[in-house]
Amino acid sequence: MSTTTTATQPTPAKPVFQRETTAGNYFVANYPPFAFWKKEAVPDFLAALEKPPRPHVPLGLYTHIPFCRKRCHFCYFRVYTDKDASAIRGYLETVLKEFAVYAGKPFVGGRKPKFVYFGGGTPSYLSPDQLKFLTDGMKKMLPWDEVEEVTFEAEPGTLTDHKLQAIRDLGVTRLSLGIEHFDDHILETNGRAHRSKEIARAYAFAREIGFPQVNIDLIAGMVEETEDKWKEAVAKAIELQPDSVTIYQMEVPYNTGIYKQMKAEGKLVAPVADWETKRRWVDYAYSEFEKVGYTVTSATTVVKDPAKVKFIYREGLFSGADIMSVGVASFGHLNGMHYQNHHDFDPYLEAVNSGQLPVYRALEPTADEHYIREFMLQLKMGSVSADKFRKKFGKDPREQFAKPLQRLKDWGFLTNGGDRIGVTREGLMQIDRLLHEFFKPEHETGRYA
Ligand code: SF4
Repeated sequence: MSTTTTATQPTPAKPVFQRETTAGNYFVANYPPFAFWKKEAVPDFLAALEKPPRPHVPLGLYTHIPFCRKRCHFCYFRVYTDKDASAIRGYLETVLKEFAVYAGKPFVGGRKPKFVYFGGGTPSYLSPDQLKFLTDGMKKMLPWDEVEEVTFEAEPGTLTDHKLQAIRDLGVTRLSLGIEHFDDHILETNGRAHRSKEIARAYAFAREIGFPQVNIDLIAGMVEETEDKWKEAVAKAIELQPDSVTIYQMEVPYNTGIYKQMKAEGKLVAPVADWETKRRWVDYAYSEFEKVGYTVTSATTVVKDPAKVKFIYREGLFSGADIMSVGVASFGHLNGMHYQNHHDFDPYLEAVNSGQLPVYRALEPTADEHYIREFMLQLKMGSVSADKFRKKFGKDPREQFAKPLQRLKDWGFLTNGGDRIGVTREGLMQIDRLLHEFFKPEHETGRYA
């Protein structure tokens, strides 16, 4: 018997993050953060459009539809609930004019789009005629014959059978239903426009007419959420057998109705579950889906059949594809530059109708920043291949990110996988705050939660 004792190293304590949900943005959607995109960089962005595309970079399209029936209390997007048919027609005509400017620029270089995304707002707020007008115009300028995926976000209460058929006929391959919850009281309390009956009807018809992929969105931690109601929501979602499910943890940015209410009442903590509870609820949902054969493919997604269900838009966004974004407040990435359009309706319309692109801020990330961006975004999918990054950027991420990876390892959030750098389930449930470990110090404006 050995009498040797090994001195054990104390495990570095996990960082103590904020527990309560307070006001602020939690999700890391891009890098460098939007606060560093500047109007001074717009001329460089315009110059980048005049160059041919970078080799082997696919082109995708994003079109922003900023209309909704009603503003949800947790919504932080710029949406309009007061536009009539003629204002909407004017908007769509403007979007097509903006599209035409891009379609004629050298950066397109003869490429045809590989994926198309309609986001909002509520794209399904548009009528079948308005949708046809928009998509016919887009297809005329950049044909969709090489498109592998068309995603369309929909609010269940806007979907009639006729409209769903029209959406299917446009070539949509993934219908993304913003269900958020199945409980009518929670839907109403949070300001959603739809109710459970509309979900059931829209889902059944979407299935009947054969969309290749139906995704449903849920939110963990809406106002008045409880353990029991969340479990019921997960059970109902499983019953539907969607192809994929996206689950967000409720955040409360400053421009939401919930924050306005907090401010009026002098409250610092939002009236929603704390972060630990939200993570536990998402983890519960994932475990229940796993029991019936689903696979967790990112911090926010479970998929029924990963061999069949792809997320081409997400893969493009996370790996540096060109994303030509049009519409008010939309943001995109072209020829190595980030850009964002005017936030407000009138300045957006005025810019395009006076013959300019409506871009109000841009940024050219450095080579290092591109590397950080892609690494961070791909880590949201649970793991990345070191080899893939070495081939693309000429540097091994295990060396490039030695210090932050060591911290994640010390805290118990990293899995050991040779070529694959992966995070544990516990790490994945809080990935957005862990990603700040990879930020350059000058980009850290304070992590939230
Ligand atoms: S439907 Fe979506 S975009 Fe529209 S108000 Fe609600 S959260 Fe915002």
